[in-house]
Amino acid sequence: MKLDGATVVVLGMARSGLAAAELLSEQGAKVRRVDQKPGDGVLPQVDESFRGADLIVLSPGVPADVDVAARARDRGVRVIGDLELASWFLRGEIIGITGSNGKTTTTALTGHILKASGIAAQVGGNIGTPPCSMVKSSRAGQWNVLELSSFQLETTETFRAKIGSALNLTPDHLDRHYTFENYAEMKARLFTHQREGDFAVLNADDPVCRSYAWRGAGKPVWFSAIGTVSPGAFLDRDSILLDGAPLMKTGEIPLRGMHNVENVMAAAAMARLAGASHDQIRAAVMTFPGVEHRLEFVRELDGVHWYNDSKATNVDATLKAVAAFEGGLWIILGGKDKNSDYAPLAAALASKARAALLIGAAAEKIKAQLHGAVPLIESKTIAGAIGYARAQARPGDTVLLAPACASFDQFENYEHRGRVFKQLVRELA
Ligand code: ADP
Repeated sequence: MKLDGATVVVLGMARSGLAAAELLSEQGAKVRRVDQKPGDGVLPQVDESFRGADLIVLSPGVPADVDVAARARDRGVRVIGDLELASWFLRGEIIGITGSNGKTTTTALTGHILKASGIAAQVGGNIGTPPCSMVKSSRAGQWNVLELSSFQLETTETFRAKIGSALNLTPDHLDRHYTFENYAEMKARLFTHQREGDFAVLNADDPVCRSYAWRGAGKPVWFSAIGTVSPGAFLDRDSILLDGAPLMKTGEIPLRGMHNVENVMAAAAMARLAGASHDQIRAAVMTFPGVEHRLEFVRELDGVHWYNDSKATNVDATLKAVAAFEGGLWIILGGKDKNSDYAPLAAALASKARAALLIGAAAEKIKAQLHGAVPLIESKTIAGAIGYARAQARPGDTVLLAPACASFDQFENYEHRGRVFKQLVRELA
């Protein structure tokens, strides 16, 4: 659509919205900035602010069914998200990565492999740089490696990735997508517009990801931790095979856990499609530093290892974190509930954990759902949990913050929670 002279409302004035407004201004649009918190040049989120709009652009932080946007849509106004807008202007091809867990890790790893292999790439999306801020630095022949949330995909219309990947699909964000089916549909949008010559890199072990193979014309490329797949990546005992040839040993991967082996297989398959060789991929994986707050080693103190997995904000991520350790775990659980079912944690914790240290608003619900599976300590705060674990843990044990909940009851966000944890752990004498 013609943006020059058009009146465009951008709803949500955090980083992605600000980037969208800037891009729109550069395209000659008359931009109205709207937010729940009006102020300096920002209009309030009321119908009046949307009057006469030709287009509405939603930030990923704004629910797609927010009432003001829904009413505008009913009046026939086009409503898109910032990702759709950015995709109209991005030069170069797109690698889009989605899934319930592992997006940031796999996106960062894919970008790392491409750059280390001398293949031009820039990384952004849900991670770091908003898509609209990547437009200026994009160019033909360069890959735009994008981490994509279901919220960003929900508001796309024509968005297409040359290489799309779905890592896994487990219940998350049901507070906003209402049903698992709805959430899975949003992620499917990454594949529906793919054309002949595009690729869908999919987790063959995940039934929902498998179903995405037939959504568009992209060619399925698989990865699997449990079976043999072709084309793609799979495990042959302790080796990863990629397109039939040995890639690397799992022991050479500098990240813990089978879930990270899956992430490596997905990133390797994508990097291969983008032109990296087996040798380049292996060398690059071995130098990947990991991402902060994802099963991040903090310190060893008196034989006890302390790990920060503050990004484990859902039950599946916590299960993966628990699976990455042999046992002797003191796990810190709790925070703001996302309408989750914690019962699946019971069996894993019963075999691996010495105790679960409960914090935050979800403590009561977790206690009820884990009843009897593992000793439960009502620590209330992260400081309380750390103090208890410091006193009780024996050499060889691991203290793990992998809370299975959002952080907003006690912290600004999961990064804040992780930083507070690390700070307190580093101060232990
Ligand atoms: P996302 O961006 O999708 O939230 P992250 O890479 O930030 O993914 O990881 C989120 C959480 O999930 C972390 O606790 C991490 O340890 C865990 N995790 C990473 N990869 C996977 C995976 N493939 N499957 C399940 N959990 C994972």
